[in-house]
Amino acid sequence: MCGVFGIYGVPEAAKLAYLGLYALQHRGQESAGIASSDMGKVYSRVAMGLVADIFSPQDLDSLKGSSALGHTRYSTTGSSTIKNAQPIVVDYSHGTMAMAHNGNLTNARQVRDFLEAHGSIFSSTTDTEVLIHLIATSEGNKLIDCIVDALSQIKGAYSLVILTKKKLIGAVDPNNIRPLSLGKKGNGWVLASETCAFDIIDAEYVRPLEPGEIVVIDKDGLKSYKPFKAQKPAKCIFEYVYFSRPDSYIWGNSVQKARKALGAQLAKEFPVKADYVVPVPDSSNSAATGYSGESKIPYEMGIIRNHYIGRTFIEPSQTIRDFGAKIKYNPVKEILKDKKLVLIDDSIVRGTTGKKLVKMLRTVGAKEVHWRISSPPITNSCFYGVDTPTRKELIAAGNSVEKIREFMGVETLGYLSPEGMVKAVGGKMDEYCMACFDGKYPVDSANIQKCISEEKNEEKC
Ligand code: AMP
Repeated sequence: MCGVFGIYGVPEAAKLAYLGLYALQHRGQESAGIASSDMGKVYSRVAMGLVADIFSPQDLDSLKGSSALGHTRYSTTGSSTIKNAQPIVVDYSHGTMAMAHNGNLTNARQVRDFLEAHGSIFSSTTDTEVLIHLIATSEGNKLIDCIVDALSQIKGAYSLVILTKKKLIGAVDPNNIRPLSLGKKGNGWVLASETCAFDIIDAEYVRPLEPGEIVVIDKDGLKSYKPFKAQKPAKCIFEYVYFSRPDSYIWGNSVQKARKALGAQLAKEFPVKADYVVPVPDSSNSAATGYSGESKIPYEMGIIRNHYIGRTFIEPSQTIRDFGAKIKYNPVKEILKDKKLVLIDDSIVRGTTGKKLVKMLRTVGAKEVHWRISSPPITNSCFYGVDTPTRKELIAAGNSVEKIREFMGVETLGYLSPEGMVKAVGGKMDEYCMACFDGKYPVDSANIQKCISEEKNEEKC
């Protein structure tokens, strides 16, 4: 998870980065940071918390210059501490460099062990710092050579933005697991995980970065490099299912359109007679409109979400997660009493939210609950940057659909098929990473399998 943003050649770049991060807040709520450059010096501010709480007007004034990058973090490797917050800013032999990363590097542990054995000292536990060391220790002459050298040694998922005093660089891994888009703002350039960050600053969407592409932006304009052998794309389909904002385009496609189609496909695969289609807000609103449109069953906001608790509440421990479900949602009795409901959610992870929600619906008198999920059962952990728990904690990893239905206490349960999911999103099965649904890890698979087999008790590799 995590959101990245970069901007070059636009006055008050840090303030625009701040707005960009505001739009990307859903991608991570643990920490945020901005680094900027006025061509002579790099400035930065990084802190724990939400974008709106971290940066004062004085902070933004102190982040001078016409280029900047920003990051919002949701930790998937490395703990949630200020030490691990990004962007990471370092001074090294070629100058100053700031880096913001979305994704997980699957061989970071091995590379780090090697670097440490050769004298490198790390100040964080993130995989991103490994990349910084590889760039800093590269023997390449130009920055682009050092970056290519570093990237050629790592595996896994990365959407990266790097800022130096004079350049802004964007890079995506050869399988393009995480999205990164390019935009234009006046004469300047913008990079962002999602295009909703362009909209907020009135930037124009140009295109998504291509698999393995590196763009270098400086006073001479934008240069694109494709130094790596072409790989089959493995775009994370979960970005469409849950993670990205519906008003974004990722890999060139509208998330809202994809999500509605997921709901419509679900209605085709699992029709049922009911009074209302009710989404689990907000992540399932779009899929529910799709289900409602296809089934002609009216859409109703039967569950209201409290927007002021933030996602931070559901993160650290199971105890707080349980509590979070209760304070996050409230059923609308007026709508739900004596009604047959199709309850739509985008996914079931541990099963905690669903179980609590169904109980709430029963409490206010729902007659029937037909639980529909706009993605297949999540049976495997993600090693490429989405926060999924270990297999042991995934309810669908060890239970049949019928068992889960029983556990949830619903009349019927239907999960979208993998084929239906790809049909709805568009494209071909083999252009997506669906490892969380099918266990087929497209990148660094042997290492991941080894990691899974060595998995000890609670610990995720
Ligand atoms: P659970 O209670 O563990 O089954 O979580 C299911 C809910 O979490 C669904 O309503 C999803 O919208 C949401 N969800 C799915 N994936 C994630 C994720 N990686 N991080 C946080 N929430 C998620």
